[in-house]
Amino acid sequence: MSRTSSYTVDPDRLQGVVGEPLFAAVAAEAAKQNIPAFAIGGYVRDRLIGRPCKDIDFVVEGDGIAFAEGVSQRLGAGHVNVFKNFGTAMFMFGDWQVEFVGARKESYSRDSRKPAVEPGTIKDDQERRDFTINALAISLNAGSLGALVDPFGGILDLDRGILRTPLDPDITFSDDPLRMLRAVRFATQLNFVIDPPTFDAIKRNAGRLEIISAERIHTELNKIIETRKPSKGFILLRDTLLLQEFFPEFLELAGAEEKFGIGHKDNFYHTLQVLDNVCEHSDDLWLRWAAILHDIAKPKTKRFEPGHGWTFHGHEDKGARMVPTIFRRLKLPLDEKMRFVQNLVALHLRPIALTKETVTDSAVRRLLFDAGDDIDALMILCRADITSKNEKKKERYLQNYDVVIQKLREVEAKDRVRNFQPPITGEDIMRAFGIPPCKLIGDIKTVIKDAILDGKIQNDRTQAWQLMLDTGRELGTEPLVGMEKAQ
Ligand code: ATP
Ligand code: MG
Repeated sequence: MSRTSSYTVDPDRLQGVVGEPLFAAVAAEAAKQNIPAFAIGGYVRDRLIGRPCKDIDFVVEGDGIAFAEGVSQRLGAGHVNVFKNFGTAMFMFGDWQVEFVGARKESYSRDSRKPAVEPGTIKDDQERRDFTINALAISLNAGSLGALVDPFGGILDLDRGILRTPLDPDITFSDDPLRMLRAVRFATQLNFVIDPPTFDAIKRNAGRLEIISAERIHTELNKIIETRKPSKGFILLRDTLLLQEFFPEFLELAGAEEKFGIGHKDNFYHTLQVLDNVCEHSDDLWLRWAAILHDIAKPKTKRFEPGHGWTFHGHEDKGARMVPTIFRRLKLPLDEKMRFVQNLVALHLRPIALTKETVTDSAVRRLLFDAGDDIDALMILCRADITSKNEKKKERYLQNYDVVIQKLREVEAKDRVRNFQPPITGEDIMRAFGIPPCKLIGDIKTVIKDAILDGKIQNDRTQAWQLMLDTGRELGTEPLVGMEKAQ
């Protein structure tokens, strides 16, 4: 089989391990307590492929908590946090997060990913791990110090870039369905291939995701989204049948319908392209989510209009309204992060309108006002949204956006509307007219805001006050005596 991994696996990287203070302390404690101890899991994997990693797990064939206390004392490390229920103990050593656990054997029931646990050997412990590359261990025991303990050929899989379960994949995935998402996540993060029998087992067990909490699902999903090229992960999520279990709206984007010889683009692939494009320019998870969701309402708004072809009128507003439903289901935060995503989805077509030569300052001011601090992110999204295969066209569209960005800068420098605060408050209006809170106040505020954004009056209190008085009178309310001047 040819090598597909983009990493170089270098067993020599383990040579120095036992000389390092942390490992030396674990080895010394293992000798003293006469208990076999091993470094295991993600740390060993990452060390072999030269990937940075700041958490280390150790397994001992004995009491992990007592062992951790011993090692921490030797190192003069920080306080040991003990999690009695899990039989684990953790301390910080410099910026390393170090965790100890007793080797265990697990048995699962059908309706839970929480296993019954009993003490076991290192081999038992390796068997319960999700992938062969995550089951690698380094011995810290006299006689085999620094040796790789690899009962399932994990090093070969690491070298070839393959994700494979140590045991029958149907059992591994049925026991803990979260592992299926982890498979896709590692495949995306490491650019690995999922071994075909493992892949097929995911397809068979995809429905088991139902016992996994939305929090755990979104944690893995976000790790996929935070990779350099998340499209790979989403395609795998689709092909493994996992995506339909928790994000069916995204699947509905797939397909390119044709009527009377007129087609439209496949919005599944378009969205993934936009997402990958955004990832080249920003690490912001929520901007990446905005890319994922920017066209989410296209299937729901799709029409074929004779004479026009395919249209998706209003997909930006409907899409913005779908954001909370999706965030709620995935238990993503319903706070300002969600509002940021919603705002970007709602506004993602607006900058296109500003590429027209005849665009007015007023239109530019309105976008600055509506986008506020999200304007820079919005422009990254819009540029990423250009997925034309025609390089000339793409170049031209990008240049158009350069012009828009220039206009945005000029208008912002002049009018400062990006974080516009109205010069007249609701309080002012109530005082000026001697009225209680009512609809009129909102109406007057809107007239003032529009006048400023349209450039009819300056963004200042004196002019806004005058407009307030005029508008009130027009709407049939006289100001109180002594309120004619701004105060
Ligand atoms: P990362 O730290 O990048 O998320 P990791 O593989 O180190 O990746 P952790 O969650 O830190 O993942 O877990 C450490 C190790 O514990 C893994 O390498 C694996 O051996 C084991 N492990 C974690 N979660 C599971 C699981 N759901 N099923 C089986 N083994 C697991
Ligand atoms: Mg880890």
